[in-house]
Amino acid sequence: MVIQTMWKDRLALSDIEGKAGEGVVGRIRRLGEMGCGLLRFAVPDIVAAETLGLLAERVSMPLSADIHFDYRIALRCLDFPIAKIRINPGNIGSRKRVEEVLSKAAVRAIPIRIGVNAGSLPGDLRIRVEEGTLDRAEALVSAAERELGIFAELGFDRALVSLKASSVADTLRANRLLAGRTAFPLHIGVTEAGPLVAGVVRNTVALYTLLEEGIGDTIRVSLSDTMENEVIAAREILGVSGEGESRRGVEIISCPRCGRNSFDTHGFTERWRDYLYTLDKRVTIAIMGCVVNGPGEARHADLGITGAGNKVLIFHRGKVIRTITAENADAAFREELERL
Ligand code: SF4
Repeated sequence: MVIQTMWKDRLALSDIEGKAGEGVVGRIRRLGEMGCGLLRFAVPDIVAAETLGLLAERVSMPLSADIHFDYRIALRCLDFPIAKIRINPGNIGSRKRVEEVLSKAAVRAIPIRIGVNAGSLPGDLRIRVEEGTLDRAEALVSAAERELGIFAELGFDRALVSLKASSVADTLRANRLLAGRTAFPLHIGVTEAGPLVAGVVRNTVALYTLLEEGIGDTIRVSLSDTMENEVIAAREILGVSGEGESRRGVEIISCPRCGRNSFDTHGFTERWRDYLYTLDKRVTIAIMGCVVNGPGEARHADLGITGAGNKVLIFHRGKVIRTITAENADAAFREELERL
């Protein structure tokens, strides 16, 4: 099960050169360490295609090119070592143009995702949905099947499909329908899912449900938030749905904090969260606000930290191993983390 996220900003050539480029490459490496297995970029023009192509030559993370409107951008991307092309059948243009892209992708053995979104259906299907003569989920499936038909006629079998809507119900229904009709891999997610909390909730309901039904080969949790949070959310969803690979790494237990706290669990968790998710250690970390419930509730944690009056305790499987001050908490925690 591959976790995807999408780069949130437009990349200029200057962004992948020099110090800025090192920052971009470093961030992509960390996303990989967190569990991201495919990173998608919007490619709005030829310069962006060339920038992405050059970046793909510098990173080991598979990069995917997301292309709307202009098939020539897809053709240019295919000159570089990108891992995948995503096209939207609602706006990529005539069949002849799709054929050109498919021919070149076939030669390069690069898969293409047919990414259908409820917000950009092909015109005739959109009109029928608006008239109320076609169900939105059916329209998503029809749009994909049209494109799959062209792929089949041309003998292109490296297809993947995604059917996304901002509605959980439409996303579920469309994916269930298509999963019953095709064996092509499905990339699943709720699109335009909203800000962090709303987006995580909507994606969790949809993705957990589909995964439980055996539907889905790659996932993305779309959020109006950071790529890192998209990857973390996807990992957590895969974790609760019992996907093996997702259990790789750290599990964080942290208390919600209440009036008994004597340690800023929110701040500490915020500071450490992304780093903890990059660790390739199968351990449980507890971050607790007070001794009332700290080591006790988290006794199964491999490493924990909790407030205790004007001190902070670090504990290992429920047993206190260090007593420190809040100022030293981060440094002491790092030492103990390295010892795990
Ligand atoms: S661990 Fe302590 S501070 Fe945190 S929620 Fe429980 S009682 Fe409150």
